[in-house]
Amino acid sequence: DEVLVEGSVLAHYVAERNHYDELLDELFRSSGEARHMIGSRCIWHINSTAFGGGVAEMLPHHICLLRELGFDVRWLIFKPKEEQFFQFTKALHNSLHDVNVAGLNDLLPHYLEASQKGAAELERIIRPDGFLVIHDPQPLVAAAKFLESHPHPAIWRCHIGYPKRTPTVDEIWEFLGEYLHQFQRIVLSAKEYAFDTDVPIDIIPPSISPFSSKNRNYEGPAGQTLDHSVSFNSQEFEPTPSLQDILGSRYFLHVSRWDGLKGIDRIIAAYDRFVKSALAEAYDTRLVIAGPDPLDVADDPEGREYFEKCVLLCTQLSKEVRRRVYLVCISMKDHDANAEIVGRLQQNAHGVFALSREEGFGLTATEALFRGKPVVVSSAFGLKRQVVNGLNGVVLDEPDIEDKAAEMMHHLAVGYSDFEEMARTAREHCLRSSTQISQIPKWYHSIQSALS
Ligand code: UDP
Repeated sequence: DEVLVEGSVLAHYVAERNHYDELLDELFRSSGEARHMIGSRCIWHINSTAFGGGVAEMLPHHICLLRELGFDVRWLIFKPKEEQFFQFTKALHNSLHDVNVAGLNDLLPHYLEASQKGAAELERIIRPDGFLVIHDPQPLVAAAKFLESHPHPAIWRCHIGYPKRTPTVDEIWEFLGEYLHQFQRIVLSAKEYAFDTDVPIDIIPPSISPFSSKNRNYEGPAGQTLDHSVSFNSQEFEPTPSLQDILGSRYFLHVSRWDGLKGIDRIIAAYDRFVKSALAEAYDTRLVIAGPDPLDVADDPEGREYFEKCVLLCTQLSKEVRRRVYLVCISMKDHDANAEIVGRLQQNAHGVFALSREEGFGLTATEALFRGKPVVVSSAFGLKRQVVNGLNGVVLDEPDIEDKAAEMMHHLAVGYSDFEEMARTAREHCLRSSTQISQIPKWYHSIQSALS
């Protein structure tokens, strides 16, 4: 009870006990057991960015919760300055989704060199009682090199998942596998993402915090402005639209990094078809595509290029269509501002789309489900596991997904009530199974297994 101080994350769950009763009982029971095993060990989460993307989104409240439960948990960011480091890891990320990438071998020495320096930094920071949770491939080799000379218990949490085996994908898993011998456990988002390895694998799906500034309920006028957004009127860009103006309009929403796998081009094509074919009254529904300001995101070197591709796609739309499209670039420098902008956009959206070509798990889809929004997704493997067609949202199959999405936009524009039951189910299901407290007992299990 000592940890239930006002303002704590745990206190929010306790205050809303009616939603979380059983989960809280299990959380407190398992925390008691875990304390004996973990004791005063320091658990270090290491990833490569503080802002943008699912991992940075999940860690703050996950860490807060564990600290409030009495564990010593810290967060370390391994973010080498060398551009080639992130070019390599982005290429690796694409290859793990079976996208053939040139130049991976040329970039490898930069990755290895930065990782070697990272290992030396870890020697300086990690004490003998440390326990490492390494997120994704970026810090993996630095951690593996450190662990080689300084054995510590460690988990590799890989958020990337691809359910098919192909020569390209296998080659990358084989490469990463070389660095996994020092780890006691691997955590993946789904069992279908398992690859050949001797290290035992645990499955823990990603989860959200209902009380983060992203997911909380917003009232009153927005306190944030949009400094770097683009809207299209004639051939020239219009001045940045105000957030309040966007929130006051009716719009479909897509939120993601600027990345080809996220299928932003498909949303734009679908919207084009929707506006061209829709009835006059449906015209008033706009399209908002929101993502991190590409200039702010050092760990995603493709972001700028892909953003420019999206701008080009929009300028090629007819004037009638493009003047209804907003590309919202959100600064990643202010975490709370980003969270408020995305949270408000999600809260006011008329429907949320995620037409990713590949997706291991789409946190943005869960955020929209949690808000009880109509959610329309592609049949990318991870999204299909989050959304059950007709139950909590709509899943669109390939091919011709743009046509199907356009049809769905039309349906949403004129017949919103069809989604009411689905939205209710979506929210209830998220409260039960997608909040961070529901996953913490699974984390205890993995940590305890790694220690035993
Ligand atoms: N996000 C954000 N600002 C943006 C774009 C995305 O805060 O401009 C957040 C989004 O709300 C979600 C996470 O970044 O929490 C993206 O996670 P997801 O699993 O959808 O994709 P990833 O980037 O991890 O591939």
